[in-house]
Amino acid sequence: MSPPRIHVVGAGLAGLAAALRLGDAGAQVIVHEAAGQAGGRCRSYVDSALGIKIDNGNHLVLSGNFSTLAYLARIGAADRLIGPAEPEFPFVDLAENQRWLLKPNPGRVPWWIFARTRRVPETRAADYLKIARLMWAGADATVEAALDPKNLLYRRLWRPLLLAALNTDPAEGSARLAGKIVRETLLAGGRNCRPLIAAGGLSEAFVEPALAQLEARGAKVRFGARLRAIAFGEKNRAEALDFGDETLELGPGEGLVLAVPAWVASALVPGIPVPSEFRAIVNAHFRVSPPPDFSPITGVLGANTEWIFRFPDRLAVTISAADRLLEVPREELAEKIWREVAEIARLAAPLPPWQIIKERRATFAATPEQNARRPGAATRWHNLALAGDWTATGLPATIEGAIRSGNRAAEVVLRGAAS
Ligand SMILES: Cc1cc2nc3c(=O)[nH]c(=O)nc-3n(C[C@H](O)[C@H](O)[C@H](O)COP(=O)(O)OP(=O)(O)OC[C@H]3O[C@@H](n4cnc5c(N)ncnc54)[C@H](O)[C@@H]3O)c2cc1C
Repeated sequence: MSPPRIHVVGAGLAGLAAALRLGDAGAQVIVHEAAGQAGGRCRSYVDSALGIKIDNGNHLVLSGNFSTLAYLARIGAADRLIGPAEPEFPFVDLAENQRWLLKPNPGRVPWWIFARTRRVPETRAADYLKIARLMWAGADATVEAALDPKNLLYRRLWRPLLLAALNTDPAEGSARLAGKIVRETLLAGGRNCRPLIAAGGLSEAFVEPALAQLEARGAKVRFGARLRAIAFGEKNRAEALDFGDETLELGPGEGLVLAVPAWVASALVPGIPVPSEFRAIVNAHFRVSPPPDFSPITGVLGANTEWIFRFPDRLAVTISAADRLLEVPREELAEKIWREVAEIARLAAPLPPWQIIKERRATFAATPEQNARRPGAATRWHNLALAGDWTATGLPATIEGAIRSGNRAAEVVLRGAAS
C-alpha cells in the first residue's frame, strides 16, 4: 500500500510541527504556504530601518514547555534557545524606583517563597499559596475573579506574568488558561520556568532547521500557495483544494491539516466555531549595544514597557494586550519607550535607530468566552484536521500551544485519512 499523502496548509509552527510528525510517521507530505516564507507569527526578517535581522516579535519560551523543547530537539536546534542556568527574572518598578530578582528554586518544593532574597519584596509566603485559586476556577471565571487584584503580589508578579502569557488583560482573561500555564511552569518547580530566548533569531531556531528536516524527509514545501477554497464531498471527506491557479484532488488515503489563522479557517470550513476577538502586541526594537551585564529578559512595572529582551545588537520591548496603543503615532511610542529603556538599562543615549511593530491580531483574546469557541483538531470531515494556537489546546496562544496542536492534528488526520 502506498503511504498516505497529507497536505499541510500554513507553515507557521503548528503547520511545521504537523508536517514533521506526518513525515516521521511515513506520510508523503506537501506543505502549502501563502507567504513567501515560513514561520507565520514567529519569524525573523531583515529590517530596513535598523539594517539588521530582527524578529517580528520577541518570543519567550519557558523550560517547562516540553513540546517546544521536543520539537527543537527533533529538528536539531535545541541549542538555539539560550537562558540562565537557573530560573531568574529581574524586575524593575519604574514608578516606585525599585529593583528585585525573582529566583524560584529549581526543585518542585517551592522553598523560595520563604526566602526574602528570592521572592518579591514586601510579600509573604502565604500570599503565594493563593495562586491555588486559579486551579479551582470554573470555565467562566476571570483571573481577577480568582485572585485579588489589590494584593501586592498580584500587582508585582501574577499580573505581569499572566498579562504576558494570555496577551489579554487579566481583568478579563480566563482563569482556566492562566491556571494551566502556572501548573505547567511555576507549580511544576523552578526548573520548568527558566526563561529561554532564540538569541540568533526565531527563524534560525524554529523555522530553518524544520524546513531542512522536512526536505531531508522528501516533503515538498510550496511558498506563495494560498488556499482559496476546499471542496467537500458527500462522504464527509474533503475532496479538493483550490489554490486559484490550480486545483488538487484529494484521492483515497489523502488528507489535509489546515494550520491557518482562525479567521482564514472559518472562511474555508463551513460551520466551525472559532475565536473571533483578538489582541494586539506592540514591539519596539532599538539598535544599541546593550550593557554587558544586562539580563536577557527584564520585567518592568509602572511604565509602558512591560518586558525588555536583550539581544547582541539591540534591546527590544514587548507590550501585551496593546490595542490601546494602536493609534498612537510610532515616533511618539519610540520616544516614550526609549526613555524608559534608557533609564532601566542606565544608558545615557539619545533615541537610537528604532523600529515599532504593531501586530494587530497577535493572538486570540484569552477570555473565557473566546476560549469556549475553540474547536478540537477533529472535524466532521474524516480527512480534515485543524491546527493552530487558536484550536482547543487548553493553553493560551503560544508557541507551545501551536506545536501541540500540530502534533495532535497529525495524529487525527492519519487516522481519518486511512478510514
Ligand atoms: C508579536 C508576537 C509576540 C509573541 N510572543 C510570544 C511569546 O513570547 N511566547 C509564545 O509562546 N508565543 C508568542 N506569540 C504567539 C506565537 O507566535 C503563536 O502562538 C504561534 O506562532 C502561532 O503559530 P500558528 O502556526 O498557530 O499560526 P501562524 O503563525 O499564524 O501560522 C499560520 C500560517 O498560515 C499561513 N496562511 C494563512 N492563510 C493561508 C492560506 N489561505 N493558504 C496557505 N497559507 C495560509 C500564514 O501565512 C502563516 O504562515 C507571539 C505572537 C506575536 C505575534
